[in-house]
Formats: sequence, C-alpha cells, structure tokens
Amino acid sequence: MDKVYLTWWQVDRAIFSLADKLREYKPDVIVGIARGGLIPAVRLSHILGDIELKIIDVKFYTDINEHAEMPKITIPIYGDLKDKRVVIVDDVSDTGKTLQVVINEVKRLGAKEIKVACLAMKPWTSVVPDFYVFRTDKWIVFPWEEFPVVVRE
Ligand code: 5GP
Repeated sequence: MDKVYLTWWQVDRAIFSLADKLREYKPDVIVGIARGGLIPAVRLSHILGDIELKIIDVKFYTDINEHAEMPKITIPIYGDLKDKRVVIVDDVSDTGKTLQVVINEVKRLGAKEIKVACLAMKPWTSVVPDFYVFRTDKWIVFPWEEFPVVVRE
C-alpha cells in the first residue's frame, strides 16, 4: 500500500481546523482513542479551553493490513458519561470498527450526544467521522510514528 507522510505542521493545522468545527458543538468531554488519537485529543482539549479528557485503548491492528476480527477494549473509559456531550477523537477512521466499538461504549456510559472527530478517513470506512480533514486511500504515517522524528517542510 502506498504511504503518505504528514508533517507536524500539517497535523497541527488539521487539529485547529477540527477545533473550529467543534467550537459550535461545545463538547463537555473528549474521549481520545489510544494511541493514535491521543496527541490530537490532548491538543484539542487545550485549544477548546481545558475541557475534560478521557482515554480509551482499543487494540485491533497487529501490523499494516493484518488485523483481528473485532477490536477489543484494553483500557476502559474511567467513570461515566451521563448526560455529557462527547466528542470521540482518533487519528484515522479506516475500517471504522474501532470507532464503532468506542461509540457503543460511550453510548453505554450514558452520553447525551456523540460526535466523532478524526484527522483522516479512508473512503471505505463504515464510520464517516462528523468532522475530519484528510481523505485518502493510502497508509498514513503520522509524525509521531517516525523515529527519529523527521521534520519535512
Ligand atoms: P479501524 O478500526 O478504523 O480500521 O482502524 C483504526 C485504527 O487503525 C486507527 O486508530 C489507527 O491506529 C490504525 N490505522 C488505520 N489506518 C491507518 C493508517 O493509514 N495509518 C496509521 N498510522 N494508522 C492507521
């Protein structure tokens, strides 16, 4: 599969663009999906004015294109989400299965309203995020995945 590399700068601009869209929705809580959703989730929680950040970890991929049937929650969300307006944040919606599992969990914990924000989506996903910036059929390499960290202009 072809790869596309995103820079920190591109990702940060994308996060600010998600923040602009989320300002109208006025979430009470951000649920960041580990690992890929954590950096955007932390950044959004600051940009949107220190809103509460919760974390969930869902394991699915073992390697590029090699994955188990369904993702499993390995770190559950702490506490409940009763009557909260929640935004679920991840790096990319690919098959959409991770997001489906997290959406179900957030509903089960009592959220009043749920939106999904991702940096990117694949055209074949079963869960099109309410807010996203990039749409590609390539494998995306995020800047935090490269080692040593490379800055591309
Ligand atoms: P899904 O459940 O939507 O198939 O996959 C979700 C997770 O798989 C994402 O949160 C991400 O961690 C990983 N993933 C899927 N596609 C890509 C990609 O193109 N690049 C990277 N870096 N991770 C991906």
